[in-house]
Amino acid sequence: MQTAERLRALVYPETCAPDELLVAGPVGRISPGDAAALDYRPAVPGERLGPLWATYWFQLRATVPEAWQGRRVDLLWVSRSESTLWIDGRSVQGLNTGGGGERPDALLLHEARGGEQLELAIELACNGMFGRKEVLPELERCELAVFDPDAWRLFFDFETLRALECEAGLDPSWAGELRSELNRFCNEGDPQILAALYEHTNGTHAHEIAAIGHAHIDTAWLWPLAESYRKTVRTFSSQTRYMDDYPEYRFACSQAQQYAWIKERNPDLWERILEKARNGQFVPVGGSWVEPDCNIPSGESLLRQFVHGQRFFEEELGARCNEFWSPDAFGYCSQLPQLMRQAGLSRFLTQKLSWNRFNRPDHHTFVWQGIDGSEVLGHYPPADTYSSDAQVPDLMRTQREYLDHESSGTSLLVFGYGDGGGGPTRAMLESLRRAHDLQGLPRTRVTSSDEFFEALEAEAGERPVVVGELYLEYHRGVYTSQAFTKQLNRRCEQLLHDAEFLACARGGAYPGAELDRLWKLLLLQQFHDILPGSSIALVYDDARRDFHEIERGAAALCPGGETPVNTLGFPRREVVTSPAGELRVVEAPPYGPGRLVQADDAVRVDGLTLENEHLLVRLGEDGGVESVIVKATRRETLAAAGNRLELYDDRPTKFDAWDIDPFHLETRADCEPADSWEVVSNGPLRAEVAFARRVGAASTLRQVVRLDAGARRLEFHTTVDWHEEHKLLKVCFPLDVRAPNATYEMPFAYAERPTHFSTSFDRARYEVPGHRFADLSEHGFGAALLTDSKYGYSCYGNELRISLLRSPKSPDPDADMGGHEFAYALLPHVGGWREAGVVAEGMRFNAPIRWVRDAPDESFASVDDPNLVLDTIKRAERSEALVLRLYEAHGGRGVARVALAAPFTRAHLANALEDEADAVTVEDGRLVLPYRPHEVLTVVVR
Ligand SMILES: [Zn+2]
Repeated sequence: MQTAERLRALVYPETCAPDELLVAGPVGRISPGDAAALDYRPAVPGERLGPLWATYWFQLRATVPEAWQGRRVDLLWVSRSESTLWIDGRSVQGLNTGGGGERPDALLLHEARGGEQLELAIELACNGMFGRKEVLPELERCELAVFDPDAWRLFFDFETLRALECEAGLDPSWAGELRSELNRFCNEGDPQILAALYEHTNGTHAHEIAAIGHAHIDTAWLWPLAESYRKTVRTFSSQTRYMDDYPEYRFACSQAQQYAWIKERNPDLWERILEKARNGQFVPVGGSWVEPDCNIPSGESLLRQFVHGQRFFEEELGARCNEFWSPDAFGYCSQLPQLMRQAGLSRFLTQKLSWNRFNRPDHHTFVWQGIDGSEVLGHYPPADTYSSDAQVPDLMRTQREYLDHESSGTSLLVFGYGDGGGGPTRAMLESLRRAHDLQGLPRTRVTSSDEFFEALEAEAGERPVVVGELYLEYHRGVYTSQAFTKQLNRRCEQLLHDAEFLACARGGAYPGAELDRLWKLLLLQQFHDILPGSSIALVYDDARRDFHEIERGAAALCPGGETPVNTLGFPRREVVTSPAGELRVVEAPPYGPGRLVQADDAVRVDGLTLENEHLLVRLGEDGGVESVIVKATRRETLAAAGNRLELYDDRPTKFDAWDIDPFHLETRADCEPADSWEVVSNGPLRAEVAFARRVGAASTLRQVVRLDAGARRLEFHTTVDWHEEHKLLKVCFPLDVRAPNATYEMPFAYAERPTHFSTSFDRARYEVPGHRFADLSEHGFGAALLTDSKYGYSCYGNELRISLLRSPKSPDPDADMGGHEFAYALLPHVGGWREAGVVAEGMRFNAPIRWVRDAPDESFASVDDPNLVLDTIKRAERSEALVLRLYEAHGGRGVARVALAAPFTRAHLANALEDEADAVTVEDGRLVLPYRPHEVLTVVVR
């Protein structure tokens, strides 16, 4: 037996079996109170427990042997599952084995009297750290054991030195000394030999590691939300316990949602968390409601993540957070630094970009500058993990890989098993105690996130500055997978937007509590494995239920009726369908009532040719678009037939739901031409031609191509019955436009990305995220593609594409199978996208005129400057004041004037948390708002 194993075996020199072990189940996820009332039977060792997701409850009675008086007594529990130890109705600790992140022991008595009668309950969940298990749980071991603290200490004393000696690159003379002395210890067993080695400390200079305990608990992923709650109970119960025994220990936990679950469902554990938060050991971090995806949610959603997160941390845990904690999101949009700053967050902890496939990030410590110039201090832990085991190799790796030694002497180590692993273990804390300042290891201490960032900020000298979006060169399928999540997310964002505006416009009692509830439910869906489509089917059952709850709730807040209303900050005039099903033309001011007007244009249909005052469109019998002429300039939009449906092989080497790999580009096959077409509307207000076609091996697609009177966009209303395997459906429009960059709408901003593969950075962007539009413009002309629910785009040369549907088979084998309904549109324009009002048109396409019971009598609010978008109108979080959110959409500067229908006495600028600052000047009853490029403005009006 190796020395380490021999020492380990001495930690538990004696064990004894329980007097009685009973089991009940399988049951669902029930409370410990309900579990006590189950019918129990004797547990049979070796019995297989299942099926997946079932729960069993054990009752254990045991007598502590008299001979163990004065000794520490532990429970040893090996069951290849995730379990929770409950004593007297309190969750005491997590016990998980068989799935990585082993935690097979729990301390029961610090000092036994001998003869105690113990009664324990153990809740066993038939799932592993990463959900599904190949082998079902089985009760392998259940014993009480006496704990030998000397053997425990000796094991870690030896193990840390042994691991250090193994490290390549250690000073050879120190390595030699370690080898010789460890060998002597193996022969003689004298602990003093090890103690003497620990006397060797670093010299005057050493890299410093700030280590912080953490459990990255995905709020849902390979398990459903309900199991995530239990993972938090296991994890937080264990961690609060270790804090008693390791006073130096600090544990960081993000995601207000997880704290909120505990507060609501396990008040006893919540009290323990509060106590440990007060003494600084339990460290709330992150400032967000969940750790959201950072590309797909709207700008307003990302702000609300911070508003609800910071509100919770402030109200329930006594302070706002100072950092955005987001190690695992799949890329970060360029407005985040500004949004973070506006939410009181000046620091950014991340990790994921170290997964880049083409270009590794150049820095671990850097200033991240957003699109508007806002700056935050960013850090990637150089160990390249947010779940370090805190052992010697990771400490050495941190020091070795750190890219910023010239400008910085300290870096962060985030340690602890994530997900079901339950966070840090005692072994990790022992290892860190020994590493401390041992010669050859970085100087390591356990700290809080604030202490680490304060130390970084205190460092003198220049920091590298990284500007703009942090594009993840990986996981590009997540803009498209599980299409319904994207569609319902976009729809629910709009619904809550409309509900807030209409409630303000109506006056009277504001449904603040209900909006709060619905917003939090939406923020939960934006978690970085739900919205991106990377979770299992069970998660999407919950997501469908929750999205529909938001739709129902929002609909109840703005009942339908006979009055048209425009819920956008742009005027509009368009053909709409009335509640009675008739086509009418409605004209409406910004945030104001629509009125029915006479049409001043008619659309004509002649076979496959559609024409209105703006566009002359010729469709092909195959379902393509042969020509789109902008009549004002007689310019042809297309370089070749557009609306080309393309199928690609979509077989990523791994991470099926996550990835679209670059070699898919080599497998393009155009879809079969349409089988048939027919004119289904022939003007004068609406022209529509329907095409039916087969797609791929087993799918069908129906498209209604629509041109309305007066419309500048050609719409494609699409229904797909989708049954493909590992295929990606895109639509391509080859545009008669030449430009080195295409423009994509992003949260409260846009991103320009290359249309060529000149460098590895360009090539890496072969599939990119975008919101309501993607545009390719040259001087004087361009065309945008608008979508109602899509987020994956690409542009190579003059070919602008939307990724419509994927068919990954893992982790959800049925992902995206079945019916889909979505729409996109081609918007050719004279001038660039800014002058042509593409931002407004993307919004109109996504927010049809609503028909409501009571609409405002006049425009509720409007801005006189097209650069500044009045995005959101709501009531203040904590008062009856009106809040306006605006953003500069074009990268320009100016002074805008905002007109409000309601009388007001004063207005102040505020941050996202609605902390008020400077007063806003009022001239002629209008708010005067100077703005700078890409600025997000919050105005509180009373
Ligand atoms: Zn994650």
